[in-house]
Amino acid sequence: MTVAGTPPSTSAADRAASPGLELLDRVDPRLADIVRAEEERQRTRLQLLAGESFTSPAVLAVLGSVLTDKYAEGYPGARYHAGCEIVDLAEQLAVERATALFGAEHANVQPYSGSSANLAAYAALLVPGDTVLAMGLPEGGHLTHGSRANFSGRWFDFVGYGVHPRTGLVDMDRVRELALAHRPKAIVCGAISYPRHIDYAAFREIADEVGAYLVVDAAHTLGLVAGGAAPDPVPYADVVTGTTHKLLRGPRGGLILCGAQLARRIDRAVFPFSQGGPHMNVVAAKAVAFAEAATPAFARYARQVVANARTLASGLAEQGLALRTGGTDTHLMVAGVTGLGLDGQQARARCAGAGIVVDKCAVPGDPRPPSAGSAIRLGTASVTCQGMGEAEAALIADLIGRALRGVRGVAAEVADLTARFPPRPGQA
Ligand SMILES: *Cc1c(COP(=O)(O)O)cnc(C)c1O
Repeated sequence: MTVAGTPPSTSAADRAASPGLELLDRVDPRLADIVRAEEERQRTRLQLLAGESFTSPAVLAVLGSVLTDKYAEGYPGARYHAGCEIVDLAEQLAVERATALFGAEHANVQPYSGSSANLAAYAALLVPGDTVLAMGLPEGGHLTHGSRANFSGRWFDFVGYGVHPRTGLVDMDRVRELALAHRPKAIVCGAISYPRHIDYAAFREIADEVGAYLVVDAAHTLGLVAGGAAPDPVPYADVVTGTTHKLLRGPRGGLILCGAQLARRIDRAVFPFSQGGPHMNVVAAKAVAFAEAATPAFARYARQVVANARTLASGLAEQGLALRTGGTDTHLMVAGVTGLGLDGQQARARCAGAGIVVDKCAVPGDPRPPSAGSAIRLGTASVTCQGMGEAEAALIADLIGRALRGVRGVAAEVADLTARFPPRPGQA
């Protein structure tokens, strides 16, 4: 399998990116081709998905290590399996680094994903049938915030809050009204397509007023928090859940932070309640990512992600796109495309045709079905990992504007840009 028009490369570049590739060439060439094609796709297209970034070689190396072979149900020092004394060290390191990085009393580093972290958080705090207040799905809530297609909507009684029709910001007065009317056992804040900072202190106040737990789902922003580029939810939340693969640049997985009082309940809710043996290679790779996220270089990355997002958002506005809330405070933005005579699906296809990878997205009150949507959703983590700055972000806005208008020749400029900023060291 090769990506259209480009022969499979066997350069030093992709050997550096995937050290096992030469072995795979011999033992499973079909899969080697698939991995190589994906590397090439990542390298030659502009990656603008809001929830993606590039991991470091160290994270990739630990993910591909022998730690994947080890069964380790339980927690360090209290495992159900024999021979865990070495992987215990890896998990202890991950926990120590996570608690230090986020200033939390307790961290559980075992959740398989952000969704699994939310499942465990709910399991620790709620029983089936309990009422939960969370951002409505059309406004940007995640599937695990009460979708009927998800365990959350099936097992709990979710009430959705929205955004102010004029400002597009979370309507805190309405959140309070709904909290007083429904008396939820937990309030969830955090979203998949909300571009602004969330007022955690205001949520805390409302949670206290109605005696609810406050769960912050920081799946998207955890990396920005680590880098000091977004407000810290830890002092306000009873439980913070998140992913380690989005802005944090770690392996695909979840994380839960909480105070000492809830530590045991959270741990029991992860294992044995909702998971089996932890993926120890992933746990160890999380430890690597937490160490990387504690460096000044990571703080520079986090600040640059936000600066790039601001520049990209204002550039897209100049191109005639309608930015949700008028812009962004974070890495992500939602840009309405109907002013250009397109829906989100069509806009995504036009961008894809030019080598620009964006998601389609609905906006609050979207008249179009979710399969089409009225907007595209973009994030700047991947391009920032590649070393792009505000000049490139402005160029990307211009490229997207032209791609959406069907102007020819954009793909060649995208190819030039991505060639100048390879995603992984050693790639050219
Ligand atoms: C991405 C995301 C999740 C889920 O993470 P997965 O690892 O895909 O399961 C949960 N909540 C929010 C707000 C997210 O953005």
